[in-house]
Amino acid sequence: MTLDAADLTRLDRAHIIHPYLPGSATERVVMTSGSGCRLTDTEGRGYLDATGGLWLAQVGHGRTELADVAHEQMKKLEYFTSFWEFSNERAIELAARLASIAPDPLNHVYFTSGGSEGNEAAIKMARYHHHRRGESSRTWILARSKAYHGIGYGGGSATGFPLYHEGFAPMMPHVSHLTPPWPYRSELYGDRPLSPEQVTDFLIRELEERIAEIGARNIAAMIGEPIMGVGGMLVPPADYWPRVREVLDRHGILLIFDEVVTAYGRVGEWFAAQYFGVTPDIIVTAKGITSGYVPLGALLVGDHVAEVLLRDHGFPMGYTYNGHPVATAVATANLDIIEKEGLLARATSLGAFLHGELQAQLGELPIVGEIRSVGMMLAVELVQDRATRAPLPLDPDRMPHDVIRRETGVIVRDSAHSLVLSPPLVMTEAEAKEAASALRSVLERTEPSGEIRAA
Ligand code: PLP
Repeated sequence: MTLDAADLTRLDRAHIIHPYLPGSATERVVMTSGSGCRLTDTEGRGYLDATGGLWLAQVGHGRTELADVAHEQMKKLEYFTSFWEFSNERAIELAARLASIAPDPLNHVYFTSGGSEGNEAAIKMARYHHHRRGESSRTWILARSKAYHGIGYGGGSATGFPLYHEGFAPMMPHVSHLTPPWPYRSELYGDRPLSPEQVTDFLIRELEERIAEIGARNIAAMIGEPIMGVGGMLVPPADYWPRVREVLDRHGILLIFDEVVTAYGRVGEWFAAQYFGVTPDIIVTAKGITSGYVPLGALLVGDHVAEVLLRDHGFPMGYTYNGHPVATAVATANLDIIEKEGLLARATSLGAFLHGELQAQLGELPIVGEIRSVGMMLAVELVQDRATRAPLPLDPDRMPHDVIRRETGVIVRDSAHSLVLSPPLVMTEAEAKEAASALRSVLERTEPSGEIRAA
């Protein structure tokens, strides 16, 4: 069956339930191919992918060497049998590799097929770890507003947006949300602006109070994205994570870093834990582990946690696809590319270049409140007034990121009131300039009312 572009749009509308897309939406962009940072749709239109797929295409699109690895592995062994008592070469190689790049003592790996599965496993692991140590009362999970931890009931409950909870109740009990670290939005912390250190003081005080309220002996773990992605690339003050770690340690509470977005080079290190100089007890990863070529996730687990989980009958939670041979083979090849092409260092240098371009092209626009970045995670905060920092009103039918894509072919995402960029780490400087110019071409026509004037 050969389907033309119109057929594909019609059949897509007839048969596919897309997340977050109303059935009434008529527009479909059906992608057919990709190479580097470029994508092409069925109409032959080209795009510049400044979001790295969904924040994961570290090595870029169209890497035939990864396709070859998948092909070879599928021919040799596509799947085996349960990961309970059987194993496979590719999963073992990858686990050892992950242990070698993770901060010590995170030497144990639990595989999943993605980030949501990973957070379910991490939350269960934290509770189960305490249970097995004889502290079954430790069931509470501390999280933050504006956090995104996927769509399971555990991670979804830890997610801190009402949108993800509405209509799905009851969510998992025993989850408590704290205030997120976001120095730009000082109104979160009272009615006067605070320095980043004062923001941390506020948040640490809140954390201590919350622990006292719930009772340390009832809390299993705190989960957090080191830099909050869906929340809008929110970068905490430098002392935030070290001080959180110190408080949690004092109370025997585990720290879970959800690094589904931040791991594997995105912030210029293998893990954001290394960027912040903090060692969590569990790191949840996915996305960039394979650059999206096949679905895979991996939890990196501290020796002290693993030792408890592995006692007696072991950790009673398994997925059909734990340690999938094809996915783990592709992941190892993907990490090889990141290493061979120096993409960790490139994330830092190119991120600084892209930040500079955004600053130069957008910095003076009245609706741009702040440009922030760590490595190749960047955000442009949109405001109606730079002095009051009031968020730019947005028209859901004419969002800046949609207009940018339609007019320029550059793909960026919206996140709350910011535009976020997380391009492949292989983006060229010319492409970085192109992305910044595309943003400028639309944002310079955007009024403080949110209206975007015609070109
Ligand atoms: N955690 C974070 C921080 C994420 O950004 C995401 C997805 O964007 C997830 C978890 C969920 O991952 P997945 O979509 O692979 O289930």
